[in-house]
Amino acid sequence: MSEKIYDVAIIGGGSAGTMAALRSVLNNDETILFPGTGKDKKKSRAMWVTKVENMPGHLEYKKGIEQPNRESLTWLSEESELKDKFHWMKNKGITEIKKEGDLFILKDNKEELYKANYVIIATGVMDVQPMIQGEMAPVFPYANNQSIDYCLRCDGHHIYGKETGIIGHGNGAGWVAAMLYERYQPPAMKIFTNGETPEFDEEVSALIEKYGIEVYEGEILGINGDTKAGKLESFEVMGDGVIDVQMSFVSLGMIVYNELAKSLGAEVDNRGFVITNEKGETNIDRLYVAGDLRAGVKKQIYTAWDTAVDSADDINARIRRFKRNQ
Ligand SMILES: Cc1cc2nc3c(=O)[nH]c(=O)nc-3n(C[C@H](O)[C@H](O)[C@H](O)COP(=O)(O)OP(=O)(O)OC[C@H]3O[C@@H](n4cnc5c(N)ncnc54)[C@H](O)[C@@H]3O)c2cc1C
Repeated sequence: MSEKIYDVAIIGGGSAGTMAALRSVLNNDETILFPGTGKDKKKSRAMWVTKVENMPGHLEYKKGIEQPNRESLTWLSEESELKDKFHWMKNKGITEIKKEGDLFILKDNKEELYKANYVIIATGVMDVQPMIQGEMAPVFPYANNQSIDYCLRCDGHHIYGKETGIIGHGNGAGWVAAMLYERYQPPAMKIFTNGETPEFDEEVSALIEKYGIEVYEGEILGINGDTKAGKLESFEVMGDGVIDVQMSFVSLGMIVYNELAKSLGAEVDNRGFVITNEKGETNIDRLYVAGDLRAGVKKQIYTAWDTAVDSADDINARIRRFKRNQ
């Protein structure tokens, strides 16, 4: 292991990790960024985001997180005045982390070890995919073209004027259907529980009835549409046949990538999100969490940025305070 000690190690290269790196380096703190292996990236939300329509200035990007992130990191490592303070460990992910005294020891996917005084974990979350006859693949052509979507605040407006489906059976899925119906009044709103028993409480059941939301409980046997154009047309449902749907949301919950934080003893809430103070520090001294992984924040790009800046600035304040008092 090299004896070098980095000021800050950042795990994750999505919205939060990239902003944390940018802020930490611009704060003149020596920063090492592990954006993850190809496999880590593939299972991250950052990879799934195409056109970002709910933030100013992003419409030109076909990959609304990946492209601007790459541009900024390339500038930071090649052109910025502080480029020597930035260590971009491309395609490297962290597999283990431990703490010895005040120092964090990180192990990457090639078994190499690194030391850092502070760590920001920004490994994110992933939306649970529906299984169509045991496979996720039938969803992908539509997900890639955003006729099957996951994030209401980002893409809810896509249902305007369209027959809409929600895939999910939990109370949350019922709420999503009711809320989207109230907001956009689509010509039809349909819930597909995909073979699961609905778990709607009284309040949600009453709204489903009030708005005439149709609930299909049969298994989804197939998705029909133009896969090249990503145009969704209908779901084939066991017992009900072909049901027209032009736009669908998936509401099956999230997989939270909290393993590294938990391995250090960080507290998580009942959904697995990591609990922090307002600066993003966990119950483990010097361990911060930013982005979707942090409990109690909106799961959005701009929130990921803000939480990352809070953490990077707090770390910088502690480094400055330490030096001031030496
Ligand atoms: C389909 C879709 C569309 C969306 N559209 C929008 C939108 O239009 N506007 C908006 O504001 N939000 C949108 N979101 C939400 C947005 O994607 C998230 O809020 C944002 O990506 C969160 O950033 P993050 O950095 O926390 O996580 P991510 O961006 O998901 O990044 C996680 C990072 O962690 C890395 N990683 C994971 N494990 C490891 C490891 N062990 N070691 C190193 N690295 C690791 C991954 O490689 C990845 O780089 C959308 C989400 C989805 C699913």
